[in-house]
Amino acid sequence: MQELTTQYLEEAIEDSKPYASSGNVNMNIPDFDETMKDRLGVSIITTDQDSYTAGEYNQYVPMQSTSKIIGLMLALQDFGKDRVFQTVGMEPMGDFFNSISQLESYDTNKPFNPMINAGAIAIAALIKGQSVENRFSRYMNFLKEITEHEDLQMSEDVYEAERANGARNRSLAYFMQSTGTLVTDVEEALDLYFRMNSVMMCCEDFARIGLFLARGGRSPNSEEKLIPSHHLRTVKAIMMTSGMYNSSGHYAVEAGIPCKSGVSGSIIGSIPGRMGIGVIGPAIDEKGNSTAGGALIKKLSQDLNLNMFGID
Ligand code: GLN
Repeated sequence: MQELTTQYLEEAIEDSKPYASSGNVNMNIPDFDETMKDRLGVSIITTDQDSYTAGEYNQYVPMQSTSKIIGLMLALQDFGKDRVFQTVGMEPMGDFFNSISQLESYDTNKPFNPMINAGAIAIAALIKGQSVENRFSRYMNFLKEITEHEDLQMSEDVYEAERANGARNRSLAYFMQSTGTLVTDVEEALDLYFRMNSVMMCCEDFARIGLFLARGGRSPNSEEKLIPSHHLRTVKAIMMTSGMYNSSGHYAVEAGIPCKSGVSGSIIGSIPGRMGIGVIGPAIDEKGNSTAGGALIKKLSQDLNLNMFGID
């Protein structure tokens, strides 16, 4: 089996980079341009606290949809599994992540799962707090604690862009209000969702989120258990079945790692008991997943024997 070393990771990055050419950079994200296309960085942190980085790992990008797993953890903490899954489903969906058509037909109008936009907006509507500011600072405090990164910040420019380009997400939210799925203030839910998407992170931050899931939801600082294991199992199962949207089946077969992607080209991977992986490769495919980042995840899984369904 391949040993995990910095040199190996650098080689894996070089092998995966050519896959960027089949993707495109999301130009709706401020500061994203063609020069980002070939960038690829990775950070891996093991449960023994060994840490490895390679490529352009210092690049910062907005969380985008990787925020959906944080939102899900907070909602599970606030309401428990039964209540959360009364609002959203737990089934994979074959359509694109911002699809609206399925909202009308599926099981009492629930979004299919918490990893697609409609599901994440419905989850944001659940997160407790007296105001959007208060709910968002809960989110930020949680993120800062689990990434051990006090300086994490939301980008105002990205937030403005999310609001300006938010027509589809507003449609999803108001549609869910019309069917009774979204019962709290719609604009507040959207505002919180836009903010959650706009927090800037580098590979190490993403890896630390994966590590948090991999090591039983403990604060890396105090070792206090912040999220119970049964909620973490739920989050990782949903990542495996829906975290890569309508490519989740492909990634379950080819990598076998619970992952969550975002349109910034970010991917969080979590291998229970072993490690967290954070990848950034801004060229994404039409389903919203990093092309080079996805290739890298599959390579790491194969070379390092990370497949959760059985190792060689
Ligand atoms: N901000 C994007 C949206 O709401 C996030 C989607 C994604 O990362 N897939 O559409």
